Amino acid sequence: LEDIVAGGTPIAPINPDQWLQAVRHALRAGGHRITWPRNRVLQTIVRYQAPFTAEKLYADLQHLQMQQTPGRATVYRTLDQLVHSGWVVRLHTSNSEAGYYATWPGHIHHIVCTSCGKVIAFAGCMIEGMMTHLARQTGFTVEGHTLQVYGRCAQCQALS
Ligand SMILES: [Zn+2]
Ligand SMILES: [Zn+2]
Repeated sequence: LEDIVAGGTPIAPINPDQWLQAVRHALRAGGHRITWPRNRVLQTIVRYQAPFTAEKLYADLQHLQMQQTPGRATVYRTLDQLVHSGWVVRLHTSNSEAGYYATWPGHIHHIVCTSCGKVIAFAGCMIEGMMTHLARQTGFTVEGHTLQVYGRCAQCQALS
C-alpha cells in the first residue's frame, strides 16, 4: 500500500467501534486481560477530538459515575502500552505536556492544528527516500524517524 500512496495522503478519521475492536483484539492476542476499568479507559481515549494529557484522561474518568473508577496506575500503564504498540501516538502540542491521540499502528504521521487541536493522520512519508543518503553521509544505521506537521486547520482559518 505504502508504495502507491502519494506523499501526505490523509487517512480517514478513526471509527471508534473499529478502533476499539482492533485494540481489544491486539491486547488479548498479547496476553492482556481486558478488565472493565481498562475498557473504560479505551472508550474514553477514542472519543477525544484533540490531543489529551494523561492527567485529563484520568480526571475525565473520575467524572464518570462508576463503581470501579480506573486508578492512576491503570490509566498510565494502559497509555504506555498503547503508545508502545502504536494504537496511541504522543504529539507535541502548544501545551508543554505530551498530548496523546488514538491512531492506527504502522507508518503514519500526523498534522495538528495549533489553534483547536484537530488532528489528521496521513500516510505516504517522503522521509523514507532520504534515509539511504543520510545513512551514507553520516555513517549512522538509521532505525527510524519522527515527523509531526503543525499549522492551522481550514475551520480555524475561516474563523479569523
Ligand atoms: Zn483548528
Ligand atoms: Zn515517516
